[in-house]
Amino acid sequence: MPCQLIQKMRACGSCRTLATAYGMNLATSRRPGAHARGWTLRLAVTRTDLEDHLITEHPNWLPGRAPDCDTCEAWGGDHTIGPTSEAEALHRAWHLCEPLRLVSTDGHHDLSYLI
Ligand SMILES: [Zn+2]
Ligand SMILES: [Zn+2]
Repeated sequence: MPCQLIQKMRACGSCRTLATAYGMNLATSRRPGAHARGWTLRLAVTRTDLEDHLITEHPNWLPGRAPDCDTCEAWGGDHTIGPTSEAEALHRAWHLCEPLRLVSTDGHHDLSYLI
C-alpha cells in the first residue's frame, strides 16, 4: 500500500497533478547522469506549487512541529497560539511532503499510484 499521504493526495485532483509533477522531477533529477543543477529551478517551482496548494486547500493535513528540526524549533514557544504564519505553514508543508521525497528515491511505485 502507498503511504498515507499518497492515499490522501490521490483523492484530490490538484494534489495528484502537482505531486506527480514534483515526484517525477525528483525521480528524474536523481537518475545517474542527470545534471542535478539543471533541475534545481524546476524542482523548486513544482515543489512550491504543491506546497501552496497544500496550505490553501488542506491546512488540516499540515503536521505539527517536527522534532529535531531547527527551523521548527525556532517557531516554538511564542507562536503556539494564534494563526500559523504563511512561512511556517510552507515549512510544515515541506515536512508533509517528506514521504514524497522518500518515495521518489526508491523507484516510483507509490508515485505511479498517483498518476
Ligand atoms: Zn489537494
Ligand atoms: Zn521543520
